Amino acid sequence: MEIVHVSAECYPVAKAGGLGDVVGALPKYQNDLGHVAKVVMPMYRTRFLVQHDWDVVHKGYTHMGSWWFNYTVIKERTNKLGFDLYLVDIYGLLDREKIYGYSDDPERFLGFQIAVVDWIAAWSHQPDVIHVHDYHAGLIPFMLKYCHKYRFLQNIPTVLTIHNAQYQGWMGWDKSHLLPEWDSWGWGMLEWQNSINPLASAIKCAWKVTTVSWSYLDELRTAANGLEALFEYEKGKCVGILNGIDTAVWNPATDTYIENHYGPSDAADGKLKSKQILCERFDLDIDKPLIVFIGRLVGEKGADLLPQVIVDSFTHIGRTMNFLILGSGFPEVESQLDNMKGISNRDYSVYIGYNESLSHLMYAGADFILMPSRVEPCGLNQMYAMRYGTVPMVRNTGGLRDTVVDYGDPDGYGIRFNHAAVGDITQGIWRAVQLYGQESTFQRIRQTMMELDFSWETSVQHYLDLYQQLK
Ligand code: ADP
Repeated sequence: MEIVHVSAECYPVAKAGGLGDVVGALPKYQNDLGHVAKVVMPMYRTRFLVQHDWDVVHKGYTHMGSWWFNYTVIKERTNKLGFDLYLVDIYGLLDREKIYGYSDDPERFLGFQIAVVDWIAAWSHQPDVIHVHDYHAGLIPFMLKYCHKYRFLQNIPTVLTIHNAQYQGWMGWDKSHLLPEWDSWGWGMLEWQNSINPLASAIKCAWKVTTVSWSYLDELRTAANGLEALFEYEKGKCVGILNGIDTAVWNPATDTYIENHYGPSDAADGKLKSKQILCERFDLDIDKPLIVFIGRLVGEKGADLLPQVIVDSFTHIGRTMNFLILGSGFPEVESQLDNMKGISNRDYSVYIGYNESLSHLMYAGADFILMPSRVEPCGLNQMYAMRYGTVPMVRNTGGLRDTVVDYGDPDGYGIRFNHAAVGDITQGIWRAVQLYGQESTFQRIRQTMMELDFSWETSVQHYLDLYQQLK
């Protein structure tokens, strides 16, 4: 099968979170099974772009409303990612450094999608599946069905994968003229609660919809940032497929970002060396358990709760643990966490920003990773952490619920708590400190986790089975 993935992110080209990791891995594993999976994404001005060689494969000319533009599609020459990677360039729209965060993001991603569909329309054949990821590619299923110019592509099956339903790409109706001329009978396929909602449109128009864990799909029927009724209505075409992790990239025995490699049998020693590097760099006490947080500092991740959790842990449990935080996001949370460096007694530090290499070192050197998420569609951090022998401390939600079993349960290996609330999280930290003190149990849990299989193999097959049903 020929599968075209359309996404705003793809590791290692451009990544802001889990979407990038998944789109950088899933096609590779699909190709390994003999299929032809490709990725098409915007041509941001990234380091990856300048460090690689490219061939121009298509030049087109189309329009977004009254604005006519040239676009260019280029392809990475060496296929080094394990799949064909295509970048779409639209001068003035996509030639920016960052992925998100511009005031014209709606126009940027709309222009990108128009160019992608226009390019596919120029192919001499049709792909077997167009697989769109999140709202940034969510208007493509609508365009294939309702835009006159592209309607001849309507028989190409489309699959939407929802990595995060919080972000939906809302646009006012004043922007409706920016879409390629469309059949006005189809307006209901764009609309949700009086605006154009690209994610809702994709849920309505795609042939199948997947979410990145089973529990998340269940939860969306009651909490989906306004789309609950739509998920309930469309449940027949929705299915949960748990993300895998790229075990070639995330492997403590070969990870190129860390110096001290290890496997399940020498984890204690290997991890200690990475912990030592972290403790020296961030002035932490190596004898205490190291609890880390890695992620976006936003409400979804429960990051706003961290300052109080840390203060309460120090006050009520004692200064018996270290905290190290890596992340960026809400400016208030960033500055609150940064200001707290003052209270450190060699037991607290923070790095504000995005740092891929530090994140790998933290997965390797930490004893515990804290994920007090309010919403977690799948969550990759806990799976990376387990592969690196780091015990996940997670809220009982979404993909965290599907991948972490509390160590108090038979065969359990993690710490789970029910509420994204300071009291519950602090209780989890108390349990972590207790567990760290039970040397043999702690080592046994570490061993168990490192041998769990979170690889893509099973999930890839589920996606392929899903595509087959669409033929
Ligand atoms: P989400 O996509 O909701 O942000 P996921 O758990 O699915 O969350 O994926 C998060 C990915 O982003 C992981 O690979 C994590 O290591 C990485 N990540 C998040 N924030 C940072 C950061 N500040 N520096 C480095 N990596 C980060």
